[in-house]
Amino acid sequence: MEVRLKILFTSLCHTDVYFWEAKGQTPVFPRIFGHEAGGVVESLGEGVTDLKPGDHVLPVFTGECGDCRHCKSEESNMCDLLRINTDRGVMLSDGKTRFSINGKPIYHFVGTSTFSEYTVVHVGCVAKVNPAAPLDKIFVLSCGISTGLGAILNVAKPTKGSTVAIFGLGAVGLAAAEGARIAGASRIIGVDLNPNRFEEAKKFGCNEFVNPKDYDKPVQEVLAEMTNGGVDRSVECTGNINAMISAFECVHDGWGVAVLVGVPNKDDAFKTHPVNFLNERTLKGTFFGNYKPRSDLPSVVEKYMNKELELEKFITHEVAFSDINKAFDYMLAGEGIRCLIRMDT
Ligand code: NAD
Ligand code: ZN
Repeated sequence: MEVRLKILFTSLCHTDVYFWEAKGQTPVFPRIFGHEAGGVVESLGEGVTDLKPGDHVLPVFTGECGDCRHCKSEESNMCDLLRINTDRGVMLSDGKTRFSINGKPIYHFVGTSTFSEYTVVHVGCVAKVNPAAPLDKIFVLSCGISTGLGAILNVAKPTKGSTVAIFGLGAVGLAAAEGARIAGASRIIGVDLNPNRFEEAKKFGCNEFVNPKDYDKPVQEVLAEMTNGGVDRSVECTGNINAMISAFECVHDGWGVAVLVGVPNKDDAFKTHPVNFLNERTLKGTFFGNYKPRSDLPSVVEKYMNKELELEKFITHEVAFSDINKAFDYMLAGEGIRCLIRMDT
């Protein structure tokens, strides 16, 4: 059930950086990172019947076996077999790696390892997409953009005219803002510690901005004052535990819904007063915006093809694969949104 892919385009998501830094995470080294990518099927392993060489595909860090209770449930994309597992560095079938150097294994990362010209992935982690869609644009849908878009459209579900706060204005947060705009939210408040993010975020529907550093009180109080008691929906896209707590506590009592998307550190604990729940606030979380990768991703690609979703504005930089370290520099400096890494140069 394995497929070898030729990766054509990839990019860096903050999750790669966390595991590269290995702060508070279980380190599995040496390992090939990368999970946001687009490519073509190069060859098929035994048992794969629904793909053929040359198919255009997006690998996804969380999979869809199609058979388990989660895959059969309309509510879940947490496949029992192929859900994200950041500690596993081997293939499921034999517990071995498909990469090696001088006979020693090089481990996989979240089942994708796309910082490689060729990679081997489980067929359940491969979404076949419209071959007419330009892979150098839609590759961003294989992680960040679908995650942010789905977090707002599938999980937070703001209604027309509502007020939404977005914590963290990287690719994931900006995709959530874009989704809030598509859903008809009228106030979209971007929250970030880096004020350089604000100008760019205007292109994604954010129309108000808050930098927590500008206030000497918690940002949830600032937001509650701005919105007559709290926002209707919030989406946290930072990975910072304090931002997660603020994102929950800033939603309005009675109906507010907060959605966590950022990947926390291993030892983080979420602390809030239980009365915040009794007062009818809801806290949710999601991987990959609740999209089922194989069933749902092709329709997100079609949104781009039908011009309902713009992807070009997310891709602000481009480098050759040999210059991949520059993509790390851009992300660590908080510069731009996504950096397209071309494998063919
Ligand atoms: P990014 O680094 O491009 O953007 C993160 C932004 O958050 C930055 O602009 C940063 O300045 C801001 N920020 C950091 N701490 C903050 C705080 N305390 N308050 C306000 N803003 C703060 O990252 P990205 O690639 O957009 O990813 C965002 C998060 O989503 C990461 O944690 C990543 O691991 C996670 N992620 C989760 C999923 C999922 O399926 N759940 C998928 C992809 C990425
Ligand atoms: Zn499954």
